[in-house]
Amino acid sequence: MNSYETRIGMAKKKMEEAEYILLGGGAGLSAAAGITYSGKRFTDHFGPFIEKYGFSDLYTSSFYPFETEEEKWAYWAKHITLNRYELGATKLYIDLFQLVKDKSYFVISTNVESQFVKAGFPSDKVFEIQGDYSYLQCEKGCHDTLYDNELWVKEMIANTTDCKIPSKLVPTCPVCGGEMDVNLRKNQYFVQDEKWAESDKLYKNFLQESEGKKVVYLELGVGFNTPGIIRYPFERMTYHNENATLIRLNREHPEGFEETEGRTIAFTEDMQQVVSAFMQ
Ligand SMILES: [Zn+2]
Repeated sequence: MNSYETRIGMAKKKMEEAEYILLGGGAGLSAAAGITYSGKRFTDHFGPFIEKYGFSDLYTSSFYPFETEEEKWAYWAKHITLNRYELGATKLYIDLFQLVKDKSYFVISTNVESQFVKAGFPSDKVFEIQGDYSYLQCEKGCHDTLYDNELWVKEMIANTTDCKIPSKLVPTCPVCGGEMDVNLRKNQYFVQDEKWAESDKLYKNFLQESEGKKVVYLELGVGFNTPGIIRYPFERMTYHNENATLIRLNREHPEGFEETEGRTIAFTEDMQQVVSAFMQ
């Protein structure tokens, strides 16, 4: 690997020359922005839940099979509030917007906290492909409408006692009468509404338009949870386009595709530090 300064210089040059920049955001990006799913941020906010269920972090706890809807929603109201409603735009996301805002760019992200939009990215440039904390859906996906949950969640929080919400606040599907869920892709019932389909179309248009052009794929903290969404496609598109460059920011898994070695620039350094250096 070249020296840090050399890599920064190469990456900056590629971004300056780029006709298109595609940002890919994964969990490592939000973690670097301070939206961590474990440690103090988790223990400070989930004391009673940790005591009751033995939760160790916000990621694994989100798969917990709660026995009752009253318990499930007490947990989720807290989870959604912390990551979606109490949190403003973080510096790292704001910096990324400043970095690309005058370019032709698009964002695809597996993150679900709406940080890109909060940081200034127009919503028609952002595809949050795995869902959005702000919405509820039918648990069985019986229809494809999403429901804004902000007021609901506030009321749940205000009325939570002993890690439970009152039964009257438990949301039910207005169509089938069944249970509701957060709009996150975790099983085959994930609802993709009209807005999702529109974002998918805009993303595909961007890929088509930028094909064969000078493209920078700027991959931010994308690991191996769902590598088929960002990581592998970014590698493949770089491989198939000799004018493309992959800039990979990843503390743990910087390794890439050998065939594109000359066109992949990897950083394992602190993400905020690297993005700040790109901006200078
Ligand atoms: Zn339903």
